[in-house]
Amino acid sequence: MIQQRNSSDLHGKLKTTIVDSFPLDKTQANMEQILFDQISLEIDFPIVPQLEDMSLMFLEPLAEQNCGIEIKNGITHVIGDLIPPREPFVLPELIWTKNYIENAGFNTKIDGIKVYVTGPFTLAYFIKIADMPALLMPDIVEKLAYIIKKIVYDIDKEGVAIVTIYEHILNFAIAQFAIEEDFALKCLDIVFKGVSRAIPSIHVCDDIFSISKLLLQLDNVLYLDHDFVNNPDNLKAYTKQDLESYDKMIGYGCLASVFDPLLLEDIRRGKVPWQRAVETEKDVRSRILKASNRYGIENLIIDPDCAFGNLKFAIPSEIAYNITLAKLKNMMGAVKNLRKEFRLEVP
Ligand SMILES: [Zn+2]
Repeated sequence: MIQQRNSSDLHGKLKTTIVDSFPLDKTQANMEQILFDQISLEIDFPIVPQLEDMSLMFLEPLAEQNCGIEIKNGITHVIGDLIPPREPFVLPELIWTKNYIENAGFNTKIDGIKVYVTGPFTLAYFIKIADMPALLMPDIVEKLAYIIKKIVYDIDKEGVAIVTIYEHILNFAIAQFAIEEDFALKCLDIVFKGVSRAIPSIHVCDDIFSISKLLLQLDNVLYLDHDFVNNPDNLKAYTKQDLESYDKMIGYGCLASVFDPLLLEDIRRGKVPWQRAVETEKDVRSRILKASNRYGIENLIIDPDCAFGNLKFAIPSEIAYNITLAKLKNMMGAVKNLRKEFRLEVP
């Protein structure tokens, strides 16, 4: 039976999850490794190992189902009316993850699975109409919102615990493409209507100061996820009162996912140990305490800033993966101690 999720699954528990991809190529062995490691680290809501391009992963099946787009040389073009897929949208990695967890008997070790779906604004940025980004055409963005609502609806039916809409570039889209805030709100509301059982959340990167008011107004969203290490000022974008009056929690990015290129080059050359790229448990703890002071520890979900996937392009992927795991280990260490100190419910 599929569990109905709600805020009591997260509130006051300092739960943990992962934002996005890992720095490994997509192979069966890597997917197993990533899932197994997340569960071993006791991440409460491990993410489905989605190791492909975050846009093409959703656009390719849409092109196959004749939804009005085609992909040529990795570029997606609009070729007709954009319509939601008629057949159920299947995310193979999700089916694989569910089976793996079931077969390994890991159901009781986790709170549930998290899946991400790329949102209409970020997708529209990568879709072209006569070489222009589709983000310039509001009717296309709105049609994409209905398509993504259908994708989200099909994923929600699979019994995932958290669905996160990825709008990495939402602030950039609004600023650079003159997107009206009301329109952004309308499109995101359409998408989130697809979620009825899972916990709905949204991830937006970078400086979110200019759009925090908009995000608070999203009706069917339980937590707003941002990077706070790379953008420490994001902490001031909300108050505890904001969160409580809009019934929102914060997905608090507490691990850096952006790295100094010179440090990575030194690691690649073996000049400095890779451990230098990992913040200590103490660092993570003090970051979480800062957020707790501002938002209340009961309103936090803890995760990394953003994806670690790109790390594999700068240094060998096994080192990149070691860095990722060491960071997550420190995050979990800090969280477990804080749960005890704050007498939060132990999972
Ligand atoms: Zn991000």
